[in-house]
Amino acid sequence: MSNKMQAAVVEQFGKPLVIQECDIPVAGPGQILVKTEACGVCHTDLHAAHGDWPLKPALPFIPGHEGIGLVVGIGAGVTTVKEGDRVGVPWLYSACGHCEYCLSAHETVCAEAQFGGYTKNGGFAEYILADASYVAHIPAGLAAVDAAPIICAGVTSYKGIKETGVKPGDWIAISGIGGLGNLAIQYAKVMGLHVCAVDIDDGKLASAKSLGADLTINARDGDAVAAMREATGGGAHGVLITAPSLSAFQQGVAMTRKCGTCVLVGLPPGEFPFPLFDVVANCITVRGSFVGTRQDMAEALAFAAEGKVKAQIELQPLSAINRVFERLEHGDVASRVVIDFRKD
Ligand code: NAD
Ligand code: ZN
Ligand code: ZN
Repeated sequence: MSNKMQAAVVEQFGKPLVIQECDIPVAGPGQILVKTEACGVCHTDLHAAHGDWPLKPALPFIPGHEGIGLVVGIGAGVTTVKEGDRVGVPWLYSACGHCEYCLSAHETVCAEAQFGGYTKNGGFAEYILADASYVAHIPAGLAAVDAAPIICAGVTSYKGIKETGVKPGDWIAISGIGGLGNLAIQYAKVMGLHVCAVDIDDGKLASAKSLGADLTINARDGDAVAAMREATGGGAHGVLITAPSLSAFQQGVAMTRKCGTCVLVGLPPGEFPFPLFDVVANCITVRGSFVGTRQDMAEALAFAAEGKVKAQIELQPLSAINRVFERLEHGDVASRVVIDFRKD
């Protein structure tokens, strides 16, 4: 095997990625080397390549945190995975394992957490170095291309729904029906919820309907909030905002039922104004949610392996990455693009 691999590299924020030959990394103690089969393209990869957030990744770096592949190299001391296993290298690349957050199953907020495709090189490459203790274990029977969107879009949606505290029969509103939202609708239906899908694109709302959404609302309709509150009898018990748009956050809080919970997962840069009186007087909870723990990951993957949720995917080669980024930026991707490394 040559010691070079193809990778898509961010050399400067806001500039196209550069496809280049890089050295294949070598697995050190506790690490594994994964030969990439597929990697989903998340809107977070766009934020990363644009340097959108206060904590920026060090340049240059390889994005991608929905990478799935086969283990081809094992570092010293690794006992939990073996060569040939199919694993995923997720956003939560590693954590300390010892702090109060790690010990209480809140490992995604560990101060020492590393992030795949952000603080560590990710899956837009033919090989990925991973921490054996934090990889996703892909169940038998789930194809790599189908598993890819589950390890970020899937787990984030699934965990976000759980964090709303809704119960079967309740209403959940899902704002943003892209990569995350498509899966969120499916998880919500499996969990016995009534689903209101909100987007600005009628095509995405039509796809939401076909996935089982009970109600669809175009966020740009003048009376979107009023129409939604009326149709749900006072707003949704849980709201999950995945839209990478600040206006969706204000609207999502306004769609929350009294005593309900609005969970924020979309990450557009910036701030949004908060209707303090309404939130206080209606006892509304607004909270953030950041991907999911390894246990959430196992649960999210199990739903997919059982065929209860299935990501809608479009396959593309690595060489198309800049065109895919452009389309994602303009809301021009139906659900999830997955880079298929078997094609290149
Ligand atoms: P995507 O581009 O696939 O989908 C975004 C969707 O939002 C599109 O369908 C778009 O039409 C819709 N949208 C845009 N403006 C809207 C508005 N005002 N109201 C309603 N819908 C609107 O993106 P994605 O991959 O699903 O990611 C979405 C966001 O979630 C990104 O900001 C990403 O960084 C973030 N994210 C967060 C986490 C987390 O752990 N919290 C994990 C993954 C992704
Ligand atoms: Zn992601
Ligand atoms: Zn920790």
